[in-house]
Amino acid sequence: MANLKSENSYRGRIAPSPTGYLHAGHALTFWQAQERARAASGEVILRVEDLDLARCRPEFRRAILDDLKWFGLPWSEGPDVGGPFAPYLQSERRAFYLAALRELVAGGLVYPCSCSRKDVAAAAAAPHDENEEPVYPGTCRASGNFPADGPLQPAGVNWRFRVPDTEGMQFLDLRLGQQCAVAGRDFGDFLVWRRDDVPAYQLAVVVDDAAMRVTEVVRGQDLLVSTFRQLLLYRALRLEPPAFYHTPLLLDESGQRLAKRDAALSLRALREAGLTPAEIRAQAARDLGLTEFVI
Ligand code: GLU
Repeated sequence: MANLKSENSYRGRIAPSPTGYLHAGHALTFWQAQERARAASGEVILRVEDLDLARCRPEFRRAILDDLKWFGLPWSEGPDVGGPFAPYLQSERRAFYLAALRELVAGGLVYPCSCSRKDVAAAAAAPHDENEEPVYPGTCRASGNFPADGPLQPAGVNWRFRVPDTEGMQFLDLRLGQQCAVAGRDFGDFLVWRRDDVPAYQLAVVVDDAAMRVTEVVRGQDLLVSTFRQLLLYRALRLEPPAFYHTPLLLDESGQRLAKRDAALSLRALREAGLTPAEIRAQAARDLGLTEFVI
């Protein structure tokens, strides 16, 4: 049995993707995760979301661990220190994701889909928010179910989760309050496995948060809609969902959200420019109006 503090104690996580250097926005979100864990006398684990091998690089992974330590964000379990739910690199956890995919296939909850992103965008009926993927028009929905054992056939296709038609959903966000969405209207059938044989973010994050006994997910508000997708996966896989706390996003001067390409705002660059972690936290918290975090 895993050696947890207690069955009910708070377990948070920080889950960076090593596709670039951490920027002030990530640091602020992770810091809030840390603060929430601290307030609950809980712990935070580090999971590295490096499934997309084409975009993730080991040098970014090393830099992220280094930057987090410099910023003053410790973790009790992670790829460098191990822990009861190792491995903590998603690239080493494929067997878990495959087992979940098989379960979804067996339940007829996913279907193979040969549409490219371009096909989906072209066929989407309504204009969509540029940050959100268009609602899948259902082109491949009628594809049959596939046997759950043996190799997943056909290989080289996407696997898409069958989202219920217009089901009202809600969850209580611990910062933002009650959140509502209509499945099938606000978001559509989404990928759980990509045709290049990479498990999709939605599936991996649900499998891992459940397997690692995370009790509260603290992450950026840009993932609010994804939380509804993930709640459907928790239900489909008969897993207990964690609580959710979505943090405000740090924006640049033009009101755009910070992206990894804004190199000047990477923790690395700020550190080289002579800023201390306390100064970065204070500045970022001021920008967000988070007075409770200013120190
Ligand atoms: N790996 C994701 C990211 O860096 C985090 C996703 C999550 O917190 O669920 O954006």
